[in-house]
Order: sequence, then C-alpha cells, then structure tokens
Amino acid sequence: MSLQVQGLRAGYGRATILEDVSVEVAPGEVAAVIGSNGAGKTTLVKTIAGSLAARGGRILQDGDAIGGLPPEKRARRGVVMVPEGRRLFGNLTVEENIRLGRQAARGRDEGDDPVEPLLEAFPIVRERWTQRAGLLSGGEQQMVALTRAVAGRPRYLLLDEPSLGLSPRLTQEVFRLVRLVVETTNAGVILVEQMADQALKLATNAYVLDQGRVSASGPAEEIRRSDAVRKAYLGG
Ligand code: ATP
Repeated sequence: MSLQVQGLRAGYGRATILEDVSVEVAPGEVAAVIGSNGAGKTTLVKTIAGSLAARGGRILQDGDAIGGLPPEKRARRGVVMVPEGRRLFGNLTVEENIRLGRQAARGRDEGDDPVEPLLEAFPIVRERWTQRAGLLSGGEQQMVALTRAVAGRPRYLLLDEPSLGLSPRLTQEVFRLVRLVVETTNAGVILVEQMADQALKLATNAYVLDQGRVSASGPAEEIRRSDAVRKAYLGG
C-alpha cells in the first residue's frame, strides 16, 4: 500500500516544470518535499491531486492508476489536497466548511468520526464553530483547512506549505496537528514545506526538489544531516 508517483512530468503552457519526479508515501508516514521558491513543489501536489494534468509518468494509489481521473474522483478515493493559502469558504462558518469536507468521504464514511479527536486536542476549532471562516486568524484557518480535509477521510493527504505566513509558535501547532492527523487517521501525508527543518523532523522520508527534479531523497534524518541540504535549505 502506498501512493506512488513515478517519473512525473508536468508544466504550464509551453513550460515544463517537473521532469522525471518520483515520490512515494505509505499510510501512516509523512514524506517531506522541500526545495526553494519556484522549485515546483506546488506544481507537484497539484498534479497528484489532479487540478493540473500530468504530461508523463504515473500516479498509483495502492496499485491503481489514478493519473487520468478528475480531481473530484481522486478526492472521493481519499487523495485529498490542502492547498497553499487554505482556500476555505470565507463566508461559510467553520462548521459548514467541515461539513463540506465530509462529502469527499461519501460511501466510505463508516467507523468513528475522524474529526472528533482533532477537536478534542485543538479546542480552538470548536470554539470557532459558528464563526465565518474568513474572519479567523491565519493559524486558525490552517487548522480548519486540515480538519476539513480530515473530515473527507483521506487515505493520502497532500499538504502545500501549511506553515505559510504563520508565526513560529503557530507553525509548531500546525505541525503538532499534522502529527496527530497521521496518528489518528493513518493517512499517508506528502508535506510540502519551506520550513525544511521542522518538516524533516516530522517526516520518515524526504525529497529535495531542485528546478523541477528530485536532486536528493532518502530517510528524512539523513537528508536533514546532509551538508548540501543544510547549506541550501537549513541556513548552514
Ligand atoms: P513556492 O514555494 O514559491 O510556491 P514552488 O516550489 O511551490 O514555489 P511552483 O509554485 O510549483 O513552485 O512553481 C514552479 C514554477 O512554475 C515557477 O517557475 C512558477 O513561476 C511556475 N508556475 C506556477 N504556476 C504557474 C501557472 N499557473 N502558469 C505558469 N507558470 C506557473
């Protein structure tokens, strides 16, 4: 069982952004994807989620090719993206946003409510339950976005820079939530991050994207200790 991306090629218009990118994550694990601005990290998760068409390569969910499916079908199968900038429905309440998230799980919504443990551990989300999502702070919105994704019973979660724009303290909180999500749902998480050090601490395996190609990959702890990665992404 795993989400496998093999030899992926993708781009926009005449520009090829990703070339021969291979990434894999198993249930219950975090795979970190790090790399500088413009390396192609967002393009990668968009292509896996299906909002951008792949131009080559394969995407396999537990052995099934999903690369030709529209994004809603991938979400229905449990491949769910949390985009950069959260994209909540700002005029809807927190509760309504999370209810919409549950729709991705239709037909697979057996067993305990996956949202409940998150609300227990992060009561701030419940405190904001009836408020409009657009009025929440950036950190709160990120937590709601993650909770909404979990409501869809993801098997594989694609997180695009969940720490973007957050203070160090809130970044810690969001990473703590990601860890809890993995523990309680056993989802496999592809975590795209510029906060490389913290992402690598959370991850099992890691991939370094450099100008649209994987320039290094391996156990996250090894990547974290490599000189080249420390120099380029971790401030020496
Ligand atoms: P960041 O951390 O800044 O979001 P990233 O690693 O996620 O960077 P991408 O957003 O995937 O990088 O962008 C990779 C390249 O693709 C960049 O050169 C960017 O300008 C280009 N690009 C991104 N989106 C589009 C688009 N919709 N149309 C054309 N080019 C795009």
